[in-house]
Amino acid sequence: MVPIEKSASEAEIEGVPEPYALASLELHPGRTVVTVGRGTGAVTFGGARVPVVAGPCAVESWEQLEAVARAARAAGARLLRGGAFKPRSSPYTFQGLGEEGLKLLARARELTGLPVVTEVMSPDAVGLVAEYADCLQIGARNMQNYDLLRAVGRASKPVLLKRALSGTIEELLMAAEYVLAAGNPEVILCERGIRTFERATRNTLDLSAVPVLKELTHLPVLVDPSHGTGKRSLVPAMALAAVAAGADGLLLEVHPDPARARSDGPQSLTPADLEALVPRLAAVASAVGREL
Ligand code: PEP
Ligand code: MN
Repeated sequence: MVPIEKSASEAEIEGVPEPYALASLELHPGRTVVTVGRGTGAVTFGGARVPVVAGPCAVESWEQLEAVARAARAAGARLLRGGAFKPRSSPYTFQGLGEEGLKLLARARELTGLPVVTEVMSPDAVGLVAEYADCLQIGARNMQNYDLLRAVGRASKPVLLKRALSGTIEELLMAAEYVLAAGNPEVILCERGIRTFERATRNTLDLSAVPVLKELTHLPVLVDPSHGTGKRSLVPAMALAAVAAGADGLLLEVHPDPARARSDGPQSLTPADLEALVPRLAAVASAVGREL
């Protein structure tokens, strides 16, 4: 594990635990495999497979979600995503459909058999979101919301934890530690791009985080090239590179009509883009000894 600098006095205190003892690979040899969903639709992260998680940034309507869910299923995606509670940078933009969005996700799961992952933004909403979702997403903006991390740590659903916009890898692991320490061992990490000086992309997708995390933790690592680049044209190349780098899965935003999307249209793939990308991902996965 990366040594964090401790003051002499702190290092000397007996019994001070490592900053992310439960997440650490050193202290927990063997990889953690996280299962999302139940029965025939169950999907695992951290094993031999590299599942694709696909869906709209935000759930907008049944028509929109149904189109994406059917396309995701047909293309070979294993988990459906879609935000019902959206953390938007401006308070004046679409904030999500709330509980209505959760109901639509549950309906899409029934239709396709795909389990669903959706974001939870506040500790108070964890119970509600966990009633509908198979996996609880913690967004980048909430990676260090410790009350929220503790709340999902007490839930009985897996957690998809996204790296903060300016979060270091060590901070991501300490955030995961909050969830693990609260009693939930099912944490999936997600690299989604970090904020740098570069403006050609929305964020800088830190693919080196994948092998770095593999050295430090037993938890599975997803990559989100949609938020990582912010541009549809760049998503396929970075998705392929993520699989080559050892990612345990991909998070891809897909919209039936990106030009009309209420959030993140410019980075959303069309269903046709997804269909074209999946066989290429499968080829790279096979080249690195994995399968989709
Ligand atoms: C999302 O997945 O739609 C999202 C809001 O992502 P992030 O928290 O990484 O910005
Ligand atoms: Mn989004």
